[in-house]
Amino acid sequence: MDHVVVVGAGLAGIRSIEALRAHGFAGRITLVGEENHRPYDRPPLSKAVLLGAADSSVVDSDLDALDVTLRLGAAAKGLREGVVETTDGELQFDGLVVATGAAPIRLRGEGHQHVLRTIDDALALRAKLLPETRVAIVGAGWIGAEVATAAARAGCQVTVVEADDAPLANALPVGAYMIPWYAEAGVELRLGTKVGTVDPDGLTLLDGDRIAADVVVTGVGVRPAVAWLDGSDVELDNGVLVDEHLRTFAPNVVAVGDCANWWSRRFRRRMRIEHWDNALNGPDVAAATLMGESAIYDPVPYFWSEQFNHMVQYAGHHDGGRMVMRGDPERDAGWSVCWLTDDDRLTAILTVDRPRDLLQGRRLVESRQRIDAVRLADPGVTLRDC
Ligand code: FAD
Repeated sequence: MDHVVVVGAGLAGIRSIEALRAHGFAGRITLVGEENHRPYDRPPLSKAVLLGAADSSVVDSDLDALDVTLRLGAAAKGLREGVVETTDGELQFDGLVVATGAAPIRLRGEGHQHVLRTIDDALALRAKLLPETRVAIVGAGWIGAEVATAAARAGCQVTVVEADDAPLANALPVGAYMIPWYAEAGVELRLGTKVGTVDPDGLTLLDGDRIAADVVVTGVGVRPAVAWLDGSDVELDNGVLVDEHLRTFAPNVVAVGDCANWWSRRFRRRMRIEHWDNALNGPDVAAATLMGESAIYDPVPYFWSEQFNHMVQYAGHHDGGRMVMRGDPERDAGWSVCWLTDDDRLTAILTVDRPRDLLQGRRLVESRQRIDAVRLADPGVTLRDC
């Protein structure tokens, strides 16, 4: 293999390059990225950058030492055998890493809607978050909650509009415990409220009601950015279909990060994870696969969110299962929720301001050992001793 092309200059893209070099790849590497920026981290965009504590989040990686040819500001637009077609010409490859991430979903309407995916999005939105500005955020998911946190801190009048009956309803069945966080931060949360259109002066709801706003932020999820692979040999289904080695069905093509829909041995199902840890760790396996090694990607998924002065962390994957609370969300400063199999093995844990539970719970999910569900329900017993 002489030439590897990496498409997507985000975290998964740059980590793939580092991993290829670490696995001894000495050939040429070209990094194609649609944005005009060197690879940067996205989690700070809705936290430090939006709060004004940072202006940049560039990944600390020595591109010169990695000997990479950068093609920034160039988008891949097609793939045929051994060739990536880009807006900047064609690139032949012997190996290809697909790391094009995901792109935000937008709502209908003529009004301007901010989304938050890129550093340019974050800086544009930050400039609008001035005291007394009326900010309407559509979606009480991870992004919506973090944007609401920053906007409230900036002194804006914030309304969050959520179609479901609780925050984070798409991801977790415990969002009801987070409802009070909004009011405590001075944010109005309108649940069960569906948006029809984004208009120049705010939102029109499906029931005809209106919410006046100076700034509208849409945080209703993302879709894998894989349209450029339509019609190629790479199979698509909710992202790029890959096996447990992160290998696609096309020869010498692997996929990583938000766009990859991989087979999880551990959870015996397909997974497409839109979180930082996945973009950080998948590339090592993808690089090994391209190098002909036999590596398997089998992580316990992990993510975190910082919202309304709370640190929310999650490890594992819950698919039904018995829920056990550790602590009382209405009384305790920190609490956790555990998901157990019928034979008392931990499959997932969500912690709020209990980082130690997260650390120990993650190990328990990894080890699959049986635990004592009665001791688990006592927040005074450390998880390690359950
Ligand atoms: P991306 O970071 O999306 O990078 C893909 C790159 O590919 C982009 O630069 C894109 O422009 C480029 N690209 C797309 N199409 C093409 C094309 N056709 N040709 C060339 N280039 C293309 N996760 C957590 O666990 N915790 C958090 O607190 C957290 N906070 C977040 C906050 C924000 C605001 C956002 C947006 C995400 C957050 N995440 C968080 C998620 C995490 O950042 C993502 O999972 C991670 O960025 C995925 O990395 P990636 O490299 O797969 O994709």
